[in-house]
Amino acid sequence: MNKKKDIRALTKEELRDFFVENGDKAFRGNQVYEWLWSKALHSFEEMTNISKETREMLEANFVINHIKVDSMQRSKDGTIKNGIKLHDGFIVESVLIPTPKRTTACVSSQVGCSLDCKFCATASLKRMRNLNPDEIYDQVVAIDKQSRLYHNHKLSNIVFMGMGEPLMNYNNVIKSIEKITSPEGLGMSPKRITVSTSGVPKIIKKMADDQVKFNLAVSLHSAIDEVRTTIMPFNTNFPLNDLKDSLEYWYEKTQRTVTYEYIVWDGINDRKEDIQALIKFCRYVPCKVNLIEYNPIDDGQFQQASSSAINNYISNLEMHDITVNVRRSRGKDIDAACGQLANKS
Ligand code: SAH
Repeated sequence: MNKKKDIRALTKEELRDFFVENGDKAFRGNQVYEWLWSKALHSFEEMTNISKETREMLEANFVINHIKVDSMQRSKDGTIKNGIKLHDGFIVESVLIPTPKRTTACVSSQVGCSLDCKFCATASLKRMRNLNPDEIYDQVVAIDKQSRLYHNHKLSNIVFMGMGEPLMNYNNVIKSIEKITSPEGLGMSPKRITVSTSGVPKIIKKMADDQVKFNLAVSLHSAIDEVRTTIMPFNTNFPLNDLKDSLEYWYEKTQRTVTYEYIVWDGINDRKEDIQALIKFCRYVPCKVNLIEYNPIDDGQFQQASSSAINNYISNLEMHDITVNVRRSRGKDIDAACGQLANKS
């Protein structure tokens, strides 16, 4: 049997060509493209300005692979965690995070993750495959709908902080962002999108060369190689010095500030020298630091540091004129917080 192609793998040009080759007008391609992307339809049947014959012809040639919200949990604080089923049965998670003025979608970029961060629940899942651009796009559409339904306004921000390492699926992440920001897609501003990475230097440089317009966040957690390697083992292959080079390159090419995400753990990175190393690292490029609350995932190998240790970080960073924010976690009661995706599922 001849396997039908996923129609959303086609570019607009290819879709227009398809119609011309089949004796129709190129314009029909534009109409279908609009249904597929900006209107985000998941069936040919609903394409009401397309004739029945044409819809049947599409049905005979293509499928629309799409995600399905398989489960949905709502937290006391309004956070919604979605279990998202992909067309081949894999499950990823996407989270809606509300604040009074805006809602943020936290989306996944891979099924599982190939990195092995010791403090992250997703690391316990092997990387099974990369998500396609449409699968990332669909997560955003689904959360935008929930935002309108439960919070009365459209989605305002997107963070690539769900499952997976976005820079290990760079091409598809870029394609999804092109669709999300295009007027022919969702028309969102790239300034409202943040891609978070554990730090893949080669790809950070590529992003700079590509002149991407979204924000970059790096999960740093330690600015000392020996410490970082014990909690984020891939640091052996991508040591801090390479990360530093890539960030300098990024800043030189884009003039854009970098955000460092940082958790302070008891007995791991709560010493004076850890703070000093971070301050030194912060001098390389203009940046700000988000101190994020640790969400326990297991038996307690990692414990959030005491508030005095955290205050120590804050006062030292501020003394050196480094902007620091403390990020409280959301959706903890439903395991929807950072690093908890995959817990209990
Ligand atoms: N792979 C990417 C994106 C996914 S992780 C990255 O590393 O940035 C998204 C953020 O959640 C990262 O900053 C990560 O360090 C953080 N995180 C992971 N596990 C966590 C946990 N248990 N508690 C709090 N934050 C966690």
